[in-house]
Amino acid sequence: MRSYRAQRKKIARERIARLLDLAEQRALQGDLDLATRYVELARKLGMKYLVRIPRHFKRRFCKHCYTYLQPGNNCTVRLTRRHLAIHCHACGAITRIPYGGQP
Ligand SMILES: [Zn+2]
Repeated sequence: MRSYRAQRKKIARERIARLLDLAEQRALQGDLDLATRYVELARKLGMKYLVRIPRHFKRRFCKHCYTYLQPGNNCTVRLTRRHLAIHCHACGAITRIPYGGQP
């Protein structure tokens, strides 16, 4: 039988997935404020139940202010020789994600 904690985590994971889905839908409809709110709620759930935000979603919001990001709308994505740089227009922070590495 699964433990109570495992069950709660499973429910939390489902709720997070649902919230991030909704965030994406709202963003596509042009409501970035609501999308950002859903991201915040998903994060809070993740912290409370020790569940990670799915990997593919990590680049969809600003790491500094948690604004939902839409490239070409509220953020700029650039490649440098070493990094993928995401410039958030809401808070001005630049998130750098390294890629490649030593050959
Ligand atoms: Zn930001």
